[in-house]
Amino acid sequence: MTSTISAAGTTIRIADTGPTPDLLAVAGDADARVVEVGPTGVPALEPLVTVTAGGETAFHADCSTQELETIVESAADGSAVRAGDPDALADHEPERAGMPPVDLPGLDVGSRHVLRGAGWRNPTDPADHDAAGGFDMSDATAVRDTAAIITGRGWGDLCQDEPLAATWETAQDADGDPLVVVNAHGNPTDALLLATAPFEVLDGATAAARAVGADSVIVYASSADDRAAETMRAAAGNHPDTAVAVDIVTGPAAHRAGEPTMALEAIEGNHRLEARVRPPGPESVGLHGQPTLVHTARTLAQLAVALRDGDETDTRLVTVEGDVAAPATVELPESATLSSAVDAVTVDGAFKAACVGGRFGGLTANLDIGVDPSSLTAADLGTEGTVQVLAEERCVLEFVGKRTQFAADENCGRCVPCREGTTQLAGLLRDIYDGTYAPSDIEELVRVMDGSSICAFGVEAGRPARTAIAEFESELRAHADGHCPANSCPAPAEVT
Ligand code: SF4
Repeated sequence: MTSTISAAGTTIRIADTGPTPDLLAVAGDADARVVEVGPTGVPALEPLVTVTAGGETAFHADCSTQELETIVESAADGSAVRAGDPDALADHEPERAGMPPVDLPGLDVGSRHVLRGAGWRNPTDPADHDAAGGFDMSDATAVRDTAAIITGRGWGDLCQDEPLAATWETAQDADGDPLVVVNAHGNPTDALLLATAPFEVLDGATAAARAVGADSVIVYASSADDRAAETMRAAAGNHPDTAVAVDIVTGPAAHRAGEPTMALEAIEGNHRLEARVRPPGPESVGLHGQPTLVHTARTLAQLAVALRDGDETDTRLVTVEGDVAAPATVELPESATLSSAVDAVTVDGAFKAACVGGRFGGLTANLDIGVDPSSLTAADLGTEGTVQVLAEERCVLEFVGKRTQFAADENCGRCVPCREGTTQLAGLLRDIYDGTYAPSDIEELVRVMDGSSICAFGVEAGRPARTAIAEFESELRAHADGHCPANSCPAPAEVT
């Protein structure tokens, strides 16, 4: 196989979250290999054009067609890597298979392992993945050994924050032929991996399939993530492990459709999505009644990288969004803190707080907390891998009220603690505007929801309110006294 990451000649890479027909048309005139690579995870830099010759790469962030014309004219001469006034330069080994470390905002944070090829390789070209040491075909025993170490990532994973191996054993021992579902629904990091590192995800999924004796993998994405699904479809067609059939299915863009058992309902084509009662869990009775592993794209990519690299490098992918100039996804060592993640973005105004752990994450003003799951859990934050930044003028009560109302509107309705509890909770938060602040009532209701809801949606839906009371008590109480410290709540209607 030939590879676009080989050292000979000049290579121009165009990285973007969306298509780049104008830039590709200009680059088509270059005396160089031109590669449309996947997104980088840092859209503020995109379109990012890189020019590589030998062991040097020039980076052009937010590259215009005019800038690229200059680059193309100069790239005819292999020595003109630095043409066009690049934003940054990096020296590296000539045949580097992943983006080299570079001093650009967002790309200068953490260390890229799972994201190594993001923005550097053609995501659907098997030659690029092969040249990067991909397509690991470790035997089932080696895969199971690694699965005893790797923990699940994200609320859409059956093994959230737990090692994978025990669930795999259950699936192997259950009646019926096992299946593997890649759950990439509803989380920006999972969608990014499908769009920029689909072979890593497929390597992990097929390795899991080999380990449990499954011959079918279903990749499940939100219908809102067209590009992710299309890229994965193309990559699946090029994946060499033909012993495992790969199918790509999309489901409704509703948040709850990412819950593992509702994902199975969506894949089966059921229009009314309700969580399934456990036990038995999907690892025993899952898709079409067959034992089913449900892992997020992050989990499986992490597994693949651990198998490929032969070490236990454990990193965390974190997407930072909210009141920021542009969102960013970074890869951090588990020893890093939340502040490293927020360093990857430009906050719109002064930082006030972060909602850590997804739609129903926990609120904190303290960013000196580790990104590893035990530190996050100890701080009553979520491990979903997202950080929503709240700037100074963002009202905590309004923010929590909207999250809670979302939970009341979007839950599947199957169990009373979540269905009724979220509605009552939204009412208690609204009552604060009328002068009734009853923190113990809120905390008691959240305890009931947390302790008796059927699925993670209801378990987590009260966390924004609970953590707001713990961390922003004075701001909530101020509303009961008729004053919004952020000056952004003109009326109670703001939380409906
Ligand atoms: S917790 Fe909420 S989303 Fe989950 S089953 Fe109960 S009502 Fe449905």
